[in-house]
This record gives sequence, structure tokens and C-alpha cells, in this order.
Amino acid sequence: MAEDVGSGQDGSELPPLDDGLVASVAARLDAAKIHYVLWGLYMLTIFGIPTIVNGIDVVVDDNFIDAAYATLEGAGFMKCNSEDCISNKDLPYAPTPHTHLHITESERLGFFKRSDVLWRLSDLSNVDGESIILASDPSQLPGRDIVGNRRRFPQDLYPVRIPAVTQLVQSLLLLAKKDRNTYGEYWVNWVIYILEYCTENGVFEKSRLTGNYKTYIDAFLEGDHSLKDQAFEHIGVTE
Ligand SMILES: [Zn+2]
Repeated sequence: MAEDVGSGQDGSELPPLDDGLVASVAARLDAAKIHYVLWGLYMLTIFGIPTIVNGIDVVVDDNFIDAAYATLEGAGFMKCNSEDCISNKDLPYAPTPHTHLHITESERLGFFKRSDVLWRLSDLSNVDGESIILASDPSQLPGRDIVGNRRRFPQDLYPVRIPAVTQLVQSLLLLAKKDRNTYGEYWVNWVIYILEYCTENGVFEKSRLTGNYKTYIDAFLEGDHSLKDQAFEHIGVTE
């Protein structure tokens, strides 16, 4: 990858957005000893959820957000140069990153703070197979489908960390609760995608959930709204 900073929004010296570029971000962060996990829509595709990706998002320990920004800026990702950039705005319907760089003018590299989205995970570097897994893990993630949609990463790429799906569902329900007065529905939609696509492909097993999380998902699938709402109220309070 080019070491020098790109010369402008049209002068990106980065390779195109793909698994290889994500792996190179991971390698840069690891080399700088910055703990991270992949986040956002790119992460969802690894679980087998078909969605358009428009960049790379990562969750970083709060104290390392500035270091992560500086590290990737030094690796050719471009500073945002538009006040109108949607990633600079507080949106009522979706979260935006704490800071971001650009891959191209329309593709971002977003940095989210761990305390904002994944406060349950105290160590973003610990691949334990329960909370955090590798994006290439064949035992927990689907391989490419017949038309070549994005799925788990190839084994020969630099390893990339992502939240395990059971952990992710729990974190999303906590986020839905934290952000219930703003874009809580955005997180619930991710849960719905996971239920829709990851039950079928075997990535998500609801039997691995416990307590109010399990009650919520079971009630959701059975259409029992009052039980679902009741479980939602107790999530994070009585776990
Ligand atoms: Zn921007």
C-alpha cells in the first residue's frame, strides 16, 4: 500500500474497497498496537447478510481513536474535506462515526468509540471465539455463495477481528435501548437482518442466547409483542 497521503479526493492511491483493503487496515492498526474490531455494513456481509457496503467502519478503544486516525491517514486514507459530508452530521436515523477518513469521496473509513457501541467488550484484541472471532473463521462464518457475494474472508489474508454473532445480537439490543430516543430502530434492523439471513445459513443459533436476550428474540419470532417489550425493558437491567 502507498505510504504517502493521497493528493485529493480524486487522487486516492488506495486499492479498491474489498477484503484486502479491510485486511490492510487491520494490519496497520495491529502494527500500531491499536485494538479494534471491524464494524458496520462490511461486517454484516461477512455473516452472509447481503447489503451494499460504502466503506469500512471499525470500533477502537476510546483512548486510541486519535492514534487510529493518524495511523490510517499516514497509510493513504484521505482527510474529509467536505462540511456537507454525511459522516460529519448527527443524523436522526443512523449513527455516524466519532471521526472518519475517506477511501474515495463517497467511501469512508469510520472510527467508532468502543464506549459508544461495544462497551461490553473490554478487550478488542482478544480472539476467544465467544465474543470476538476472526473474519476468516470457517467454523462460524459462511463461505462465498454461488454468485460470489461477500462472506467470510479468505484464509490467506491478514487476520481481521469481528464480534461473534451471538455477542453482536446482545450488543445491538443494548444499543437499541441506549439509543431508543434517536436511532434505536437502526440497530433493531441489524438484528432483523441477522435473524433473516443468519438463521438460515446456520451462523446464528438463538439457543446460544440466554436470559432476556433469548426471551426477546423468541418473542420477536413468535410475534408476541407484549413479551418482547417486557424483555426489552429488562435487558441490561437484570442480566
Ligand atoms: Zn467525510
